[in-house]
Amino acid sequence: IDDFPVKNEPVYSYLPGSKEREAITAALKRVGSTVEEVPILIGTKEYKTEHVQYQPMPHNHKKKIAKFYYATPELVQKAIAVSTEAQLKWDKVPLAERLAIWEKAAVLMAGKYRQDLNATTMLGQSKTIIQAEIDSAAELIDFIRLNAFFAKELTKYQPISEEPKSTLNSMRYRGLDGFVAAVSPFNFTAIGGNLAYTPALMGSSVLWKPSDTALLSNYTIYKIMIEAGVPPGVVNFIPADGPVFGDNITASPYLAGINFTGSVPTFNRLWLQVGKNINVYKNFPRLIGECGGKNFHFVHPSANVESVVNGTIRSSFEYCGQKCSACSRMYLPASLWPKIKEGLLATRDKLKIGDVENVDSFAGAVIDKKAFDRITGYIKHAKESPNLEIVGGGQYDESCGYFIQPTIVVSKDPKDKIMTEEIFGPVLSIYVYQDKDLDQALKLVTDTTPYALTGAVFAEDEAFQKRCLDDLKYSAGNYYINDKSTGSVVGQQPFGGGRMSGTNDKAGGPHYVLRWATPQSIKETF
Ligand code: GLU
Repeated sequence: IDDFPVKNEPVYSYLPGSKEREAITAALKRVGSTVEEVPILIGTKEYKTEHVQYQPMPHNHKKKIAKFYYATPELVQKAIAVSTEAQLKWDKVPLAERLAIWEKAAVLMAGKYRQDLNATTMLGQSKTIIQAEIDSAAELIDFIRLNAFFAKELTKYQPISEEPKSTLNSMRYRGLDGFVAAVSPFNFTAIGGNLAYTPALMGSSVLWKPSDTALLSNYTIYKIMIEAGVPPGVVNFIPADGPVFGDNITASPYLAGINFTGSVPTFNRLWLQVGKNINVYKNFPRLIGECGGKNFHFVHPSANVESVVNGTIRSSFEYCGQKCSACSRMYLPASLWPKIKEGLLATRDKLKIGDVENVDSFAGAVIDKKAFDRITGYIKHAKESPNLEIVGGGQYDESCGYFIQPTIVVSKDPKDKIMTEEIFGPVLSIYVYQDKDLDQALKLVTDTTPYALTGAVFAEDEAFQKRCLDDLKYSAGNYYINDKSTGSVVGQQPFGGGRMSGTNDKAGGPHYVLRWATPQSIKETF
């Protein structure tokens, strides 16, 4: 435990003919040829209800990979009782033992189950192998390993004892007194692992509501953690209708925290319910959330065109723009626009959108019908509005999968909704500013959206870089200079944003573990 590895997990390349390619091909075949039954898991028991659901493949939506069940209010109540009981025992397990379980889990994820995690993520969430590998393999393993490392580091800090011969001051960290509800999204399998298992690592117990559209990959994590040694009942796997789950957890006196990634309206709803029930709780529940954004790339006239083009294509269109960090609006100087336009369109035209099992595919389908309708709604708006021009893409087709071509829209109005609202899809909106209006253009970054998740400035001019560090201080929790706005790495760029993007508690950072533990100060007098 003392030499706990703190390196990031390497990312494999899956070149045709490689051992990894062979392994993922076999795993895809296995996952794609069955409809796996996924029960609700509470303590040691499995439950099935009448509320049957299916998880289809977004890129081939007639095909299903999992059958699952929504928990009833009674089952959510049962899970609360089981988890609060389990917490009392779990919190007594010494940290060293918990760390050993986490290390074993990381080993299982990195080896034996790597391709199960990747295949369930690829088929269930429509990720290419590269996008799956950086998520359900590398990032997930990093969360498991590095949070364990941070947990150990946390306990190293001890307060001063002024009279060490007669008094000794110390601090210890125990789990939250009650249960934590983890509500996780579809877009990163790793986020589910982090939201559910970091509170557990710190000695808390958890009710995990996975996203319906990430069900099988999340269930795979659950099974691995059990195999690694997490006792049943510490994390309970509760697929459920959102409001049913939300209403039941927020009405419980034992709610100790909510660990959330999802939409602003859902997070708002949880806050309102907690506020309404504030007098019922044993503790003030901790509400930690990450809620999306309208991430920007701001281009200065001194920028390197090639890095703008490559970075923007990747940020806006990898995984169909469904990373919370994806670039969704770009501000460009008129002097660079012709060259950047040429680069963006030439690269965009080469992107193949299709079945994620096909090695040539750059991206698959968007996650579901609801996302397809929302995103194509913005494309229709772009087709109809005189202020907007689609310069690339704009096509979509849902007959087999929810496919939307990477779309580039130029807006004459920097306040059009396409420039200010979160789209969460492969649509990049661009506003071309006159070089002389640089100052006003820079103000648009901060003034036109309520979000502050990620953002990037492309500039070779160092004075401008420096100025932006001040001017954009509140506009992005993850801020990049001359690099795309996506791709944060656990332990390297702790992730999260402020304003309506969330509570900025920085998943993958050294302080995140403290959100899920509660310290006790002890003074011993001899
Ligand atoms: N950490 C990811 C990135 O930087 C995004 C996480 C998310 O989508 O919530 O690209």
